[in-house]
Amino acid sequence: MTGGDEAGRLPGEHAPVTPDWACGSCGEDWPCATKRTRLLDEYQVDRASLSVYLGSCLAAASQDLRTAPVASLRDRFIGWVPRSPRTT
Ligand SMILES: [Zn+2]
Repeated sequence: MTGGDEAGRLPGEHAPVTPDWACGSCGEDWPCATKRTRLLDEYQVDRASLSVYLGSCLAAASQDLRTAPVASLRDRFIGWVPRSPRTT
C-alpha cells in the first residue's frame, strides 16, 4: 500500500512533483529512467519538440531549485538526450 489517490495523479505517470522535481511515481530525480525512455519513445520522430519541452522544464526547475548548479540541472534535464546522428 503506497498511499493511493494523490490529487488525481495517475499511477505510473512519472510526472514531476515540484518544487523538488522528484518523480511522482518512483521518487527518482525527474526525469527518471522510466520517464526518459517514455519521452524518447514519444518524441522519437520529433527530437526538436523534445528539446523544447525539456528546455521549458529546465527553466521551471531552475526557478525551483535555485541552489542546484545550472550545469548539473542542464545535464539532468537535457544532457541525457542522445544527439541526432550526424549525416555528414
Ligand atoms: Zn519515475
